[in-house]
Amino acid sequence: MRLLLAEDDAALAAEIAGRLGAEGYVVDISRDGEDALFQAGSGPYGALVLDLGLPLLDGVAVLDRLRAAGSTLPVLVLTARDRLADKAAAFRAGADDYLTKPFRIEELLLRLNALLRRAAGHASARIAFGDVSLDTVTGAVEREGIPVRLTALEARILAYLAMRPDQVVSRSDLTDHVYDHDSDRDFNSLEVIVSRLRRKLGAGLIETVRGAGYRLRRDGAAYALA
Ligand code: CA
Repeated sequence: MRLLLAEDDAALAAEIAGRLGAEGYVVDISRDGEDALFQAGSGPYGALVLDLGLPLLDGVAVLDRLRAAGSTLPVLVLTARDRLADKAAAFRAGADDYLTKPFRIEELLLRLNALLRRAAGHASARIAFGDVSLDTVTGAVEREGIPVRLTALEARILAYLAMRPDQVVSRSDLTDHVYDHDSDRDFNSLEVIVSRLRRKLGAGLIETVRGAGYRLRRDGAAYALA
């Protein structure tokens, strides 16, 4: 999942991005409000982590303009302001969740995870697709109750598809969300990784939709190819 982090404190941004990266997220950083607004409005992001105190354009103004433009991007606000009026302003502008600095990055991870899961329509942290289950908090995957070990890239691909169940996800959308750098992107290696996931999790779980991309089926079995 590719995330946008809008934070002007370079050290904090690097620390957060490092931890999110270790958890399998791909993170782009914006250092001011104008850039954040532009990136969030045009980039392929699953969520925005938005500091309120940003140069050029305040975080609340970023959020206001983003929502006015019709964006439904999940937004988690970070701020040093802990007055209720500031929190109310952020929620009125369209924030989905809120963390007051200083915070533990573990809490940011938990909140972000819940935000992404809810945005994908999953109420529970543990989601099941037929006999395959994915714990969205720990990343643990089981098939018929038996733990399955996945590589980091396999886990990223499964997690992203699991947030788009029953939808066709294009290869370019998938590469946007699982590869950190353009140079890593390669549709052939994507196909190889999906094949390995099918071997580990069952052939029917991830369907290739010819010319369009991949679809993870909520009931765990591939659509009959008509
Ligand atoms: Ca700031």
